[in-house]
Amino acid sequence: LKTSVKSPLTIRLCQPRGFCAGVDRAIQIVVLALKKYGAPVYVRHEIVHNRYVVEGLQNLGAVFIEELDEIPPDHRHCPVVFSAHGVPKSVPADAQARQLFYLDATCPLVSKVHKQAMRHQRLGRHVLLIGHAGHPEVIGTMGQLPEGSVTLIETDADVQSFVPQDPTALGFVTQTTLSVEDTAGIVRALQERFPQMMAPSAESICYATTNRQEAVKETAPGADLFLIVGAPNSSNSMRLVEVAERAGAKMSLLVQRASEIPWEEIGEISTLGLSAGASAPEIIVDEIIDAFRARFDVSVELAVTATETENFPVMSALRDVELTAA
Ligand code: SF4
Repeated sequence: LKTSVKSPLTIRLCQPRGFCAGVDRAIQIVVLALKKYGAPVYVRHEIVHNRYVVEGLQNLGAVFIEELDEIPPDHRHCPVVFSAHGVPKSVPADAQARQLFYLDATCPLVSKVHKQAMRHQRLGRHVLLIGHAGHPEVIGTMGQLPEGSVTLIETDADVQSFVPQDPTALGFVTQTTLSVEDTAGIVRALQERFPQMMAPSAESICYATTNRQEAVKETAPGADLFLIVGAPNSSNSMRLVEVAERAGAKMSLLVQRASEIPWEEIGEISTLGLSAGASAPEIIVDEIIDAFRARFDVSVELAVTATETENFPVMSALRDVELTAA
């Protein structure tokens, strides 16, 4: 019997990785709403940016929509869940006007950024939001304040071209899932131009983003390849790919499933770094490790850089279901 000898591969598996407390809570809200109210439960926008999660919830009876007017009039009694990324104020107002029953799954850490932005405005400051144009979280945060009271800053060029009405009355917040390093650079550049600009009273980039980036940064040096499990529209996952490359991985790629691993391109490797964005389920990390086991003699090293204990409870309307489900 002929047995082929597999070459050895060390997988450095980042810890923490994958689901954060906000994603976990948002998914629980949809699952518990389905349990309590039955199908269909409408969900405005992908509840979290992961196709696998979305398909799993669709199979349970969730219906994903982009706008509230997609809910048929005879389904107005069905709950509609707002995604973890947060929504502009106009969305709950619209839901109320349509007499819809909504459950807001906005991550509490995104809501905190909303509050900071509102606080700046209350104190008479024009708000600078550092983030990526078009991302639902940015749309949601901008939509907390009247039009014209927030300016989006994406790049250094935006920092240089911004002309405030009053340079002494500015405050900034950021998207929760940005690159820690790039954001620090943009904040420094803003502070140089506008020394009186006020910071939010708490860091906007969330613990999950910070911890996942830190873990990748420590694990990447010398890795032949770094894989990040996540979706291309997941901001925090895309940032992890960049962090891995900058920290010294020879190649760094985003994959949604094991079937996307480009084996030909990868070639001979002996060290693989592996992590997952905050919206990527652990089952796909397992699937990827199994795919490597089929081709290599794998040993997994856990690279622990932080311990996370955050847990965000669901809203009181769903707690009774949670208890009976336990
Ligand atoms: Fe909340 Fe951060 Fe997770 Fe976004 S990545 S859902 S802000 S904990």
